[in-house]
Amino acid sequence: MAKAYSNKINKIRSFALALIFVGFVIMYAGIFFRENPIVMLIFISLGMIALMFSMVVYFWIGMLSTKAVIVNCPNCEKPTKILGRVDMCMHCREPLTLDPDLEGREFSEDYNKKKNKSDNEPVNK
Ligand SMILES: [Zn+2]
Repeated sequence: MAKAYSNKINKIRSFALALIFVGFVIMYAGIFFRENPIVMLIFISLGMIALMFSMVVYFWIGMLSTKAVIVNCPNCEKPTKILGRVDMCMHCREPLTLDPDLEGREFSEDYNKKKNKSDNEPVNK
């Protein structure tokens, strides 16, 4: 399984950044419909929605950050935020866990899924 994991807060943050970018691109595309004010207005509105949505996502990151646990990474010794049962170090991508039961197990984001039937079994084979 060659799936790339990354720190959740970083992941959401890059998503919000991408939304801002998309919002500006949509608004910019509206300029090409100058002759048609209604189409231009639709493009600008869509761009505004994307920008507002990214602000909501940024606000959400702020909420998540208050719930995240700040620990010092055992590998690079820098402080990092953990969200959920398992997460990765923001700096060195070292897998970290807050659950002692998962200590030493193979890293899997499946541990964060609460509805998992066998919660303590490693799912990735
Ligand atoms: Zn680290």
